[in-house]
Amino acid sequence: MHMNRIKICGGYGEHGRSCFLVEYTPDGHYYMLDCGIMDTDPQPNPHVTKEEIAKTDYVFLSHCHKDHAGAFAWLVEMGFQGILVTTAMTRELAEIDYKRVELLELAVNTISEITLPKAEWGQSDWSGLRIQYGRTGHCPGSLWFQIADARQTVFYSGDYQKRPYLYACDEIIDMAADLAILDLAHVRSELDAGAMREVLWEQVGGALKAGRRVILPVPKYGRGLEMAAFFMDRLAKAEKQNGLLPGGITPELYVDSDFVIYEKKMQGECWYQREPAPMYHGILDTEQRCAAGKRLDMPCIILIADTHLVKPANADFVLQESASGAQVIITGRVRTGSVCEQLLSAGQAQNALYPHHQSRHDFEELVRENAFRMVLPFHNGEKEVWMSE
Ligand SMILES: [Zn+2]
Ligand SMILES: [Zn+2]
Repeated sequence: MHMNRIKICGGYGEHGRSCFLVEYTPDGHYYMLDCGIMDTDPQPNPHVTKEEIAKTDYVFLSHCHKDHAGAFAWLVEMGFQGILVTTAMTRELAEIDYKRVELLELAVNTISEITLPKAEWGQSDWSGLRIQYGRTGHCPGSLWFQIADARQTVFYSGDYQKRPYLYACDEIIDMAADLAILDLAHVRSELDAGAMREVLWEQVGGALKAGRRVILPVPKYGRGLEMAAFFMDRLAKAEKQNGLLPGGITPELYVDSDFVIYEKKMQGECWYQREPAPMYHGILDTEQRCAAGKRLDMPCIILIADTHLVKPANADFVLQESASGAQVIITGRVRTGSVCEQLLSAGQAQNALYPHHQSRHDFEELVRENAFRMVLPFHNGEKEVWMSE
């Protein structure tokens, strides 16, 4: 019996640094699944040696986020000369400048497929890699991969959510693989996406009804647009039912100008699963502390495309707003030393989850609906291995 070697270089037992190395030829060549950083670690790169990098023929990047693509430039500095396999959107959003690229195109309404030919530097008798891939519902450009070589099949979900609000998803169903590496970032949640969104809306709607402004820092590319679309729908629904506030008033949703740049770029893209619709009521200027000429003295929702509040104007704005009664809600990982951490530890901000990954409920459903012999759930602090009977 032949056994194939997989080396976990990051992302398993930790939230970040996703990187998996699969040995796929008899002469010990590899392909790599994602190459992310752990941006809270002074040593942020994946645990991979120069020798391994020299023998890596392909790097598959699932999406643009730093914890999946952030170490690619480092990998090239360390001597990577193989082929980058990803979407044009991921390459653009991750700002990757690398010439040897296989850009994956999407088939319409079906799972896409491509065969990568035998690498010219490979000495072995293998016949190439057969790849199936689809959109993951996580962010523009994001893909899952099923990769078959001459001996084995590996499935990689990337960051996956099959019930997205806005992004398109090609559902993972009836797939088979020897090994599956699957997103389980919301490791402690048993809720599905719909239920998780309801919990978030209870927090946001509750604060609005109590007369407070609600501020959510969100990433530039990712759940921010999903949340905007979700809140806009909820506000529209509330308006039809005589408003959320006394006097039939419904709060509005404002976003900052960075959010708008991104939103414009995405309009009409195949990564959207619905027709373009209004994503906000007004644009906010954090420096001027006003939205589209209005003072912020009414309950409203404010999305700021700056997850860790790095921009001084954004940080000042959120601190001042919080001091004058606004509810700050943090929906992602918190960077040490950030304003978000400061607010959370002072009890001035709340944590909430947005279903942008798989919960345990989603993960178990995915395992049931596919035929995977062995499963490594990744993107969390646990270290679980699942095996089929
Ligand atoms: Zn991601
Ligand atoms: Zn991730």
